[in-house]
Amino acid sequence: MGTGIKSEPQRPPESFGNMSRSDVVVIGAGVVGLSIAIAAKMRGLEVTVIDREGPAAGASAGNAGAFAFTDILPLASPGILKKAPKWLLDPLGPLSIPPAYALQIAPWMLKFWRACQPSRVAHSTSAQTSLMDLSKAELEVFLSATGTLPMLRKDGNLQVYESDAEFQASLPGWDARKKHGIEFRHVDAAEMASLQPGLAPRFIRGTFTPGWYSIADPKLYTLALAEHFSALGGSIEITEVKALRPVSDGVDILTTDGGKRSAAKVVLSAGAFSHRIAKTLGENIPLETERGYNTTLPADAFDLRMQVTFGGHGFVVTRLTSGIRVGGAVELGGLDLPPNFKRSEAMLKKAQTFLPGLKADGGTQWMGFRPSLPDSLPAIGRAKATPNVVYAFGHGHLGLTQSAGTARIVADMLTGQKTVIDVAAFSPQRFG
Ligand SMILES: Cc1cc2nc3c(=O)[nH]c(=O)nc-3n(C[C@H](O)[C@H](O)[C@H](O)COP(=O)(O)OP(=O)(O)OC[C@H]3O[C@@H](n4cnc5c(N)ncnc54)[C@H](O)[C@@H]3O)c2cc1C
Repeated sequence: MGTGIKSEPQRPPESFGNMSRSDVVVIGAGVVGLSIAIAAKMRGLEVTVIDREGPAAGASAGNAGAFAFTDILPLASPGILKKAPKWLLDPLGPLSIPPAYALQIAPWMLKFWRACQPSRVAHSTSAQTSLMDLSKAELEVFLSATGTLPMLRKDGNLQVYESDAEFQASLPGWDARKKHGIEFRHVDAAEMASLQPGLAPRFIRGTFTPGWYSIADPKLYTLALAEHFSALGGSIEITEVKALRPVSDGVDILTTDGGKRSAAKVVLSAGAFSHRIAKTLGENIPLETERGYNTTLPADAFDLRMQVTFGGHGFVVTRLTSGIRVGGAVELGGLDLPPNFKRSEAMLKKAQTFLPGLKADGGTQWMGFRPSLPDSLPAIGRAKATPNVVYAFGHGHLGLTQSAGTARIVADMLTGQKTVIDVAAFSPQRFG
């Protein structure tokens, strides 16, 4: 993918006002918060990260590890509206809404449906593409600076199809990607077998995307970022944030242990829980969670050469340092319902059929909260109540992918510089 964005090592600006110690508090030690914390530290700011559990406690630990730069099409699109009714019929299928959460998710669904209008899809695709291009341009610079470059893999992704009809239905999406300069090639069964041996013969075609990178292990990567941040002199505090209060020279951060901290600026990057904190500033952000599930099998469970996407079934199989991860699916079930690990089991069962040699024993199940806004774009911008709080959450399926790009943008904001790309489309206030 041609990015057109030149990536430069991040340097401190000449001046960034009179901020002193505790210049910035970042809430959330996931991949987004830690990337921002490091980028801000590299600009010369004093940064503290607060997390209620410590680094890599949320979605950043258990995701599929993909830098899905080619995934520029928003989930909110006419295509999903066609697939959703069939998917919703299967309670363990790629998309489900637990009855206990159906009423609560309804307003978000309405906004999602509105975001599926073609003109809005075009707008979201163009915004998503600019953030993807930036994130790709920033990635290797960021990985080099944090000593994590050896964790980068450039194996690509193989999307597989079970019928010609499924392949034909995917073509408009590939055409849209082609317009944005994304490289891919459609492959027949023979080439698929040479790229990834061991696929069941039911898959008759595929699309190989070489520009799809991955990280050796998302949890180890997030922990490595935390370590690097500490090595730069940043501090990580374990406590839960209850509320934010704007004050004349910054922001007070109130914690559930009754404590209070102060900072000139606060970055809110608490993943799927961020809207609860934004609410204490009087803002209602329509953040929901798309819960995702997986099972991580021992590393010798299958000879996986690259990430394989079973798009028709809403899950992927990924090779990580920690093992072979089988997972995906979307469950619109909110933050409080208990996990339903039958979903992990259902995907694993399908994976055994799709990869007949897969050894399915000895796995570890996991559920994580994707932080999702209705139009599939993140919220990156200042709070309505005060310019001293910057929101950076809602990256949905793409938080790892977009972490380095988001960090660059937020570091620009914190240091009073013009942001490297136009961020109007990511305005937290765009839903009114
Ligand atoms: C099954 C699955 C597969 C995925 N695969 C991919 C993929 O391949 N590629 C990709 O790019 N993305 C993927 N994602 C999405 C990605 O994991 C998320 O977008 C990303 O991890 C979000 O990062 P974050 O830092 O915003 O949130 P999180 O990682 O969830 O971190 C938020 C942090 O905030 C803390 N926190 C919450 N509330 C408070 C509070 N009140 N006070 C203090 N701390 C608080 C939490 O403890 C947590 O550590 C996947 C997600 C799932 C579920």
